[in-house]
Amino acid sequence: MANHIKLYIPGPIEVSEKTFRAFCTPMIGHRSNDFKALSAEIQPKLRALFGTEQRVYLSTSSAWGVMEAAIRNLVVGGKVLNCMCGAFSDKWFDVSQRCGKEAVALKAEWGQPILPEAVEAKLAEGGFDAVTLIHNETSCGVRSPLAEIAAVVKKFPGVLLIVDTVSSFSTEAIPMDKLGIDVLLTGSQKALAMPPGLALFSTSPAALERAAQSKDRGYYFDFIEFEKNAEQDMTPSTPSIAHIFALRSKLEDIETEGAENRYLRHIKLNGMVADWVRRNGFEFFAPEGYRSVSLTCVANNKGIDVAEWIKRLKKEHSLVIDGGYGKLKGKTFRISNMGDETEESIGAVLAALDATLPV
Ligand SMILES: *Cc1c(COP(=O)(O)O)cnc(C)c1O
Repeated sequence: MANHIKLYIPGPIEVSEKTFRAFCTPMIGHRSNDFKALSAEIQPKLRALFGTEQRVYLSTSSAWGVMEAAIRNLVVGGKVLNCMCGAFSDKWFDVSQRCGKEAVALKAEWGQPILPEAVEAKLAEGGFDAVTLIHNETSCGVRSPLAEIAAVVKKFPGVLLIVDTVSSFSTEAIPMDKLGIDVLLTGSQKALAMPPGLALFSTSPAALERAAQSKDRGYYFDFIEFEKNAEQDMTPSTPSIAHIFALRSKLEDIETEGAENRYLRHIKLNGMVADWVRRNGFEFFAPEGYRSVSLTCVANNKGIDVAEWIKRLKKEHSLVIDGGYGKLKGKTFRISNMGDETEESIGAVLAALDATLPV
């Protein structure tokens, strides 16, 4: 572990020794009482983090499994409004169409937030079953105003709100029940700093009612199956038990630190990166007030050779940042401060950036 290349890309990110040790716990049967006890033990902690009284489900898939599932379970004949402002949210529109749904695009420029007024105007056209929103668009470092958008969606009865918090979950409070979110989902390898392969989600009673009407739920991602099994502290199929041990360990870490302290730590570390950006004459890709606190997407306004820089960082400092997602490759670069980072570790990353930054 000591000499590996450290990841400051926005996922997967660094996994702690403690998490890895938990991941390597000997297996238990997934229908055993030991497994049920493990599930039951983590459930209250998960509900607290989700801000919900509903069950939190564990899906052995990456986040996309649940992102697709939410479309198949909740869109039952009406339209789905896909809010798009970057690579992941754009893809969700494509996925909705591939699921055979009538998808409507609400597009903002990459890097610009989704604004509540725009959501309201689209929903006013009528006929929608659901809205998809990515809270923190990891590809651009843009954070859309979730509470305001949720308040708008609430004005339209029967329209369910599906929110992806893959890169923001546990970096700030996202109270699902209070905001009226119908499906809240996240993945393991980003903000939670675990190995990839697990997705976590919760559903409102309205979302389960809707799912019960869907004829297109399939089996593996059937929300009703998740609910039935979760009632008995189990999952529909054999889960990645290693991930659940790792999750228990991670929840302990969060409890020890305190969720509020964790949120403040993310703000602080993100602020250190922001200071570095300003100090070096770079610009932010997302506008002020709409920037992620878990990663920074930097506009390459100085026209440096980002790919060469990252090669040097990797070779000389054994760490990598990201060189820009998709069409933003080379035009931006991204630095993650998610997970278990500290002032010391982020300070070391910034010092490495300083030592290698091309002039
Ligand atoms: C990474 C990411 C995803 C996709 O996650 P997978 O684990 O690859 O399925 C979805 N949404 C956001 C916001 C992401 O950052």
